Amino acid sequence: MSEETLRTEVAICVRMLEYLGLIDFSGHVSCRIPGTNTLFINSWGASRHGLGPADIVKSDMEGNPLEKGVILPSEKYIHTSVYRFRPDINAVAHLHPPVTTALSAAGKEYVPVMHHGAIFHTGVSVYDDCRHANSVERGDAIATALGPRRATIMRGHGAVVAAESVMGVFFGSVYLEDNAKKLAHVYMMGGKPQVLREDELQASKKIWRQDQFDKVWNYYQETSGVKFS
Ligand SMILES: [Zn+2]
Repeated sequence: MSEETLRTEVAICVRMLEYLGLIDFSGHVSCRIPGTNTLFINSWGASRHGLGPADIVKSDMEGNPLEKGVILPSEKYIHTSVYRFRPDINAVAHLHPPVTTALSAAGKEYVPVMHHGAIFHTGVSVYDDCRHANSVERGDAIATALGPRRATIMRGHGAVVAAESVMGVFFGSVYLEDNAKKLAHVYMMGGKPQVLREDELQASKKIWRQDQFDKVWNYYQETSGVKFS
């Protein structure tokens, strides 16, 4: 995949996450640039509502911008630490998803209750610090909380989703919040969450695949109208 295609994918991902109310004005998405020790991430200043491929900028793995006049998000360390800790991960999103975050603020356990929630069969951890991850130490602490999982929740702040690709990180972000919304309703009804059984998790986790990523990505590209060509 060319660098231009990657920049475009990251830009589309940020715009669709903003469209879905998952990223607001300050979240970010990054991806590794294959075969290099660098990454692409949306710049600090570009509006998440209107940014395009030109606002996706290059950084080294220490969080130093590699393009002139560019300011990176202050929480860039989330990305650099996750890439350092997880060689299997090629895309990272830092979101501010309202319901997922509210569950953590309420001290409610995040568990998979919906079919698609099975993609989190290895669990969703909670990083117990709401402050900005604006240092290597905090980035490393978040990567540690994430461990081998696909997502961790930053209590009272947001979430981090990690995947093998940008489309995968979008898919994971959509279903992290989707499962949270239904789970929150269960808690509000006073019900006990019916956590997916092991056999259900094993069967349903198979939805983590490219044709499913494409389906969800294409659907939201159509509904959001986000397109660069
Ligand atoms: Zn944040």
